[in-house]
Amino acid sequence: MSWEKDKGYLTNYAQLFQKDIKLHNKDNWFCRALSWIVFIITFGKKDRKSWMENVAFAAANHHFYPEKWSTKTIEDKIPHEAFHTKDMNACGLFIHPMVGLLPFLILYYLVPIPIGFAYARLVFELRAKEAEWMENKPKLQAMQTDADKFVESISGATYLWAVPKFFAKRQTDKVVEKVYATYLG
Ligand SMILES: [Zn+2]
Repeated sequence: MSWEKDKGYLTNYAQLFQKDIKLHNKDNWFCRALSWIVFIITFGKKDRKSWMENVAFAAANHHFYPEKWSTKTIEDKIPHEAFHTKDMNACGLFIHPMVGLLPFLILYYLVPIPIGFAYARLVFELRAKEAEWMENKPKLQAMQTDADKFVESISGATYLWAVPKFFAKRQTDKVVEKVYATYLG
């Protein structure tokens, strides 16, 4: 039980971004079932252990974090996942993020195509990344390292090969520049 002792604090922090956010430990039957689906749809390229231990995700106002993550790691990730909740809320016409979950997932996985040029998936992830950087304000070098990791993962198995790497890099560079420009005022 690493971060769960701080669940109250982290939940309060998350709810500063979006109301009703609830945090969950990924170590449950639902996530273990999902890990099999991830394994299957990535043709076994994303192994279940790595997905369980290294990937956080949001489903409407419910956020799922790996069991062994530290409180600080989750704190840094909350602005990102909360932004996904915000986008899901928008997809549900601001009625409730739960209403937007299905339309969001359809856009996220299917538009315009599931693999190779899933442009909506890149856009949703880049918007969340931007929100994360704007909130955490990493130093330029740390942001660049994180951006490189993002380009690798969005164009790889973790994000079901959303877009080609060169395209992910070009779009991500633009966001890095935009965030960095705000530092300079
Ligand atoms: Zn994300």
